[in-house]
Amino acid sequence: MRVAIDGPAGSGKSTVARAVAKRCGLTYLDTGAMYRSVTYLCLSRGVDVSDAEAVSAIARTVRIDFAEGQGTQRVIADGKDVTTQIRTPEVDKSVSRVSAVPAVREAMVARQRELGLAGDVVAEGRDIGTVVFPDAEVKVFLTADPAARAHRRAVQREGGNAATSDDANADAATEREILRDLVRRDRLDSTRSESPLRPADDAHHIDSSSKSVDQVVDEVVALMATAIPVHPAAPAGEGDTTAGATQTTGRLRAFRKNSYDDYYDHALRDFPLPGRVLLGVAIVLVGAITKLLWPWKIEDAEKLWEDVQGRVIVMNHVSMLDPVIIAVSLWFHGVGLRIVYKSEFDKLGIVTWFFSRAGGIPVVRGTADLKAVRRAERALRRGECVLIYPEGTRVKSDDEPVEIHGGFALMAQLAKAPVQPVAIVGARDITPAGKHLKRLGRVWCKAGDCIGFDEVEAKGRKARAVAMEKLAMERVYALRDELRREHPGKM
Ligand code: C5P
Repeated sequence: MRVAIDGPAGSGKSTVARAVAKRCGLTYLDTGAMYRSVTYLCLSRGVDVSDAEAVSAIARTVRIDFAEGQGTQRVIADGKDVTTQIRTPEVDKSVSRVSAVPAVREAMVARQRELGLAGDVVAEGRDIGTVVFPDAEVKVFLTADPAARAHRRAVQREGGNAATSDDANADAATEREILRDLVRRDRLDSTRSESPLRPADDAHHIDSSSKSVDQVVDEVVALMATAIPVHPAAPAGEGDTTAGATQTTGRLRAFRKNSYDDYYDHALRDFPLPGRVLLGVAIVLVGAITKLLWPWKIEDAEKLWEDVQGRVIVMNHVSMLDPVIIAVSLWFHGVGLRIVYKSEFDKLGIVTWFFSRAGGIPVVRGTADLKAVRRAERALRRGECVLIYPEGTRVKSDDEPVEIHGGFALMAQLAKAPVQPVAIVGARDITPAGKHLKRLGRVWCKAGDCIGFDEVEAKGRKARAVAMEKLAMERVYALRDELRREHPGKM
């Protein structure tokens, strides 16, 4: 996972980034230290920092590395430890000039990407979310008002702990001077033509002026918990263990000890034949019984199997009949279906056994269940459909507050699959509140058109997922309302 933390000088980026990296076991990358190193080399070699050619020559040839020191990260430039030398007021004064030179940025960004190649990194700077790692999973833009920032820097310079700077004293004159320098650097960094300091469109803004370091770190870690790791897509059918869910190829052998995970991670076509036959029998039986008890019909059903491709089917949830109707219909048309179901059902071994053989994928609700998301993504890439109920649980009345779980949009986004809305009415009537007896009655479904991400106008990965979530559910409810109009009295 890559975490990008950008913001002006003194906003607390270094302290927060270091703490996040430590807490989550990621590599900490201080990109400011790299521009500072180039600046220091220029100053120490008597190079005029306004001579772009000479400055660029140093940036192109210097080798910057980071090493673990006693409790701190050491910065090594051309084999020399420059950790202290790069934090002087002289370097502070010249660094924005140096960092504005395009060739310097080019060389530093290339090195930063190299250092971040391993993947798990918390990088802080000015252009991490916009230029260095534009596809970082978590982007934070950290700000603080200038007085708070100057105070922290002054305390830091006097050897204090910026994390507890509120009650620390710093010399007022030093603080004023630092404030002037910060404001000047902010202006230079934000107005330069090459990669100016600015938040990425999809960055999460945090103002640290009146927050403790721990509070900010908690906020960033919480964002990480809900982020989905991005990594290059593996071709369908290839093994991949990078994101917590493995995909294994090859047919599962019958009468062997296949684990539940084996079923969740294999393609449906690889399931053992006896199990598939058994599932077919169950589908035919359940289909016949449910059709008899609650004659059901899907309007525009062909939309579910025409142009077969991996797609996320989202539906309103009113009864246990909803998934049965879709599963039976798709089975008869040879479309592979994985139903995402709440892991609470797994309390009963027999249920887990059956759901795993039927191609179910359990999801732990209320968490960012990355494993389930990755499994669904893999299924979609293989061309299987994924059926999911974003309402999470059956909704027994229109007055019930409903919370939409947006994981489906992420699954579709990761797999570059469309989302298909489907609605159901009439099935709520078969499980009247407080009664177990099912009433006979007609049930209607309606399939909508697939929605591609090209229909979503928002910018940025997260914003697009949120927009898809909203659009798809609006379509589900529009279909449901159409059905209600066509079949008055059906809920
Ligand atoms: O973060 P720090 O204050 O150490 O950065 C020093 C300077 O390096 C900044 O004022 C800015 O000019 C430059 N910088 C940059 N891009 C980055 C990181 C730092 O231009 N990604």
